[in-house]
Amino acid sequence: MNQPDNPRRIIIAIDGYSSSGKSTMAKSLARAIGYKYVDTGAMYRAVTLYAMRNGMISDNHAADAIAIEKALPSIDIAFSIMPDGSQHTILNGEDVEDQIRRMDVSDNVSPVSAIPAVRHHLVKQQQAFGSERGIVMDGRDIGTTVFPDAELKIFVNAPAATRAERRVKELRQKGIDASYEEVLANVVSRDHQDETRAESPLRRADDAVDLDNSGMSIPQQDAFLINLYQERIGKK
Ligand code: C5P
Repeated sequence: MNQPDNPRRIIIAIDGYSSSGKSTMAKSLARAIGYKYVDTGAMYRAVTLYAMRNGMISDNHAADAIAIEKALPSIDIAFSIMPDGSQHTILNGEDVEDQIRRMDVSDNVSPVSAIPAVRHHLVKQQQAFGSERGIVMDGRDIGTTVFPDAELKIFVNAPAATRAERRVKELRQKGIDASYEEVLANVVSRDHQDETRAESPLRRADDAVDLDNSGMSIPQQDAFLINLYQERIGKK
């Protein structure tokens, strides 16, 4: 039987559309329940940054799949916790957290993440991160491909316009200037590419709980998720 002070550790998969607030939610939930958090989008972004720096992506966003596949053993991705508690993405020893959020990376990430070898490589690492369970992971295919056996799956959505508005605000807070039109076009284009790729496309798992968070505050989202978590670990 589960003891109240020693609840069973589960896997929580949070999937959904671009800029739907998945990461904010996932981070906050992980902090509240003492779980690890993994932002799988950051991993695809880090591979994309590496490919851009090494001339593997053309100006019209075509990715050289063969060159990128060959480079995978030279791409080391890790996460580091900063003194303020935030998590930064480390690419071959370099903190690239700010660079991977740039618009040019957002414009190139979907073609890179459609390459099957890239997906296989990163999915293996993601599965290893969750081998001891007790993890919140956000992405596009966590509940369908990475952890189809996750005990709690959430699928987040909100209208594209709401998501683009949020993203512009987030980017401006980071000192990145981007127009609403440019961000909206990127969000819509990434959703389309992510949903239509052949290899593990963005798809709602059949057993996922739907969440449209457009009218919800962060504390409301936290409460919604913690309630589901407690249900799943048998505390309710
Ligand atoms: O979550 P984020 O918007 O940072 O993800 C960036 C991109 O990485 C997505 O648009 C998608 O192309 C890719 N991605 C993916 N599978 C995941 C997470 C992200 O294909 N699990």
